[in-house]
Amino acid sequence: MNEALTGLIRPLVRALHPYVPGEQPKIKGLVKLNTNENPYPPSPRVLAAVKEAVDGRLRLYPNSTVQPLREKLAKLHGCRPENIIIGNGSDELLALATRAFVEPAQVGVAADMGRRLQRGKAAALSRARPHWATIQYFVPSYSVYPVLTEIHGALHHAVALPADFALPLDRFGGGAGQVFADAALTFVTTPNAPTGRGYSTKDLEALCRELRGVVVLDEAYVDFADENALSLALKYPHVLVARTFSKAYSLCFQRVGYCVGHPELVAALDKIKDSYNVNGLGQVAALATLDDLPYYRANFRRVIAARERVSGELRELGFEVLPSQTNFIFTKPPRFPADAWLRELRARKVLVRWFSPPETRDHLRISIGTEAEMDALLRAARRILKETGGRKARPTTR
Ligand SMILES: *Cc1c(COP(=O)(O)O)cnc(C)c1O
Repeated sequence: MNEALTGLIRPLVRALHPYVPGEQPKIKGLVKLNTNENPYPPSPRVLAAVKEAVDGRLRLYPNSTVQPLREKLAKLHGCRPENIIIGNGSDELLALATRAFVEPAQVGVAADMGRRLQRGKAAALSRARPHWATIQYFVPSYSVYPVLTEIHGALHHAVALPADFALPLDRFGGGAGQVFADAALTFVTTPNAPTGRGYSTKDLEALCRELRGVVVLDEAYVDFADENALSLALKYPHVLVARTFSKAYSLCFQRVGYCVGHPELVAALDKIKDSYNVNGLGQVAALATLDDLPYYRANFRRVIAARERVSGELRELGFEVLPSQTNFIFTKPPRFPADAWLRELRARKVLVRWFSPPETRDHLRISIGTEAEMDALLRAARRILKETGGRKARPTTR
C-alpha cells in the first residue's frame, strides 16, 4: 500500500466493505445457479432489435429522459410517465434514493438538533435521534442496502426478521430489533432475497402505513410471485416500487431498471441522476421486451414449474426448502454444513450461492435454471449423499 496515496482517499471509502457480487467464472460445462440470472435468453425480437440498432447511431447520445420507455411502462402499469424513472439497473435507483432522501450522518445530526432547538427542546439534545440520516432494512434481505448506507455515511437500522422471515409487523418502536417508523428511508425486498419468501400486499401496506420516511419496495423478483405491490406506489406518496429487467426479463447484461411512485419523489431522483444514465442499447432492448411479454410470461411459468418440482425432490433428499415466490430457492441441506455443500457441489461443476453471515450461513441459495440444469443439480446432490453416506460432517471454515 502506498501511504501517500491512501491519504488521498476519504476515510469513509478506505473503511468501506464493498458489495461482493456472485462469481462469473468461465468454466466449461459449469451449471451456474449462483446469481439468479434467467436461464432463458431474451426474446428473438429483443435480440433482433438490439442488432438492428448497432450502426453509426452509436456515436449519438441516447435519450436522456428515456421518454419512450417511460411512456410504454406507464401504459403497462396504468400510470403516467411522470410516475416513472429509469435507471442503469435498479441498483442505480436504490443508490439514488439514498442520495435523494437521506442525510449523511454528520449533517443529519446537525439538522435534527436544529429542529429540536427551534422547538426549544434543549434538554432533548443529548438524546437527539438523527433519523433523517437513518436507512432501515431487514436482515436477511438484499445485501446491497448496508453497503449503500456505508457509502452514503448514513446510519444503519437493521431489523432482524423472525425465524420464518415474516415482516415483523408487531415490532414498531425504533429500539434495537424494532421497526423504526421515522427512518428517512426503508428498503424492503419483496419477495425477499435470499430467502425467497413472499409478502402479501396487505402486510406491505400495513408496514408502509406505519413508516413516515420514504419506503422502497424492491420488487426485483416479483414476476415469479403470486402478488405485486405496485398499487401501493400509486396510492401512498411516500412509497416507491423498484423493478428491473435483469432477472425476469433476461436482461442483466443491459442494465435497465425503474422506479414507480409519486411524481415529486420521482422528480427528486431525476434531478440527481447522470444525464445519460441509461445506455442506448439498453433502452432499445427494454422497449422491445415490452412488445413481447407473452414470451416472458411463458418463461416465468417454466421457472416456477421447475422451482416447485426441484423443491419437492430436494425435500425428499432431506433438504429443508422454504416456500419460494422467486426464481431461486433457499434451502438448508442435510448432513453437512451448507458451505461444505457449496464446495462439494462446485467440485461437481454446480455453482450455487452461500452467504456467510450467521442468519444465512446454514442455507444455500440455488437459482432456478433450465430443467436440464436442475436435473444436473439433483444428480450431484444424490451423488454427494451417496458418496458421503455414513461419513460424519467434516469441520468447515467457520
Ligand atoms: C438483482 C437485484 C437488484 C438489482 O438489479 P439490477 O436491475 O440488475 O441492478 C435489486 N434488488 C434485488 C433484491 C436484486 O436481487
